[in-house]
Amino acid sequence: MSKKHTAPGVLAFQGSFLEHLSSLQKLNQDPIKVKSRQDLDKISHLIIPGGESTVIGKFLKETGLDLEIKKRAKDQTLAIYGTCAGAILLADKVISKQKINSLKLIKTTINRNAYGSQIDSFSQKLEFKPNQKEFAAVFIRAPKIVDFDAESTEILVSNFNTKEVFALKQKRVLISTFHPELTDFLDIHDYFLSL
Ligand code: GLN
Repeated sequence: MSKKHTAPGVLAFQGSFLEHLSSLQKLNQDPIKVKSRQDLDKISHLIIPGGESTVIGKFLKETGLDLEIKKRAKDQTLAIYGTCAGAILLADKVISKQKINSLKLIKTTINRNAYGSQIDSFSQKLEFKPNQKEFAAVFIRAPKIVDFDAESTEILVSNFNTKEVFALKQKRVLISTFHPELTDFLDIHDYFLSL
């Protein structure tokens, strides 16, 4: 097997990248911190962490990583998982007061800071549909998925009563509006690595 594209990596400009690296290590992976196009060349799976989508978007553009990630996503040689700010950066439509340099790699509309400010953070018991396990989802100044392309979407986490969707997948791109890297629930990372 070629040495290219074999390890998972975490975009490491800003946000909860150390926590994602630790989740991947707990799954016996040897993840790479991604800050350049050379780093991206080594990986098969990329996590875009939670943090500040305006800041991460700016770094993506300045380093030229945005175009490289788009190219790898389009030819499907890169699986991508965005949590919270990462989900915002993957959406093709973002409702936001500030301009976001989104990669537009998933057909969904996301409303940024939809629950209010930092103090409006909360945790909720939800089920991960692929293995029907219950876990505590942590939301921090989270965005809301307000629309998505039903035909190409697999819903991974939603509220049974309200039908609100918190995690979804289209081909090899996955997003969640909550932070599994802040808990011991590793099943979503594990599922992502299988894509
Ligand atoms: N509100 C943040 C943003 O818009 C996202 C919050 C988070 O990633 N926890 O970038």
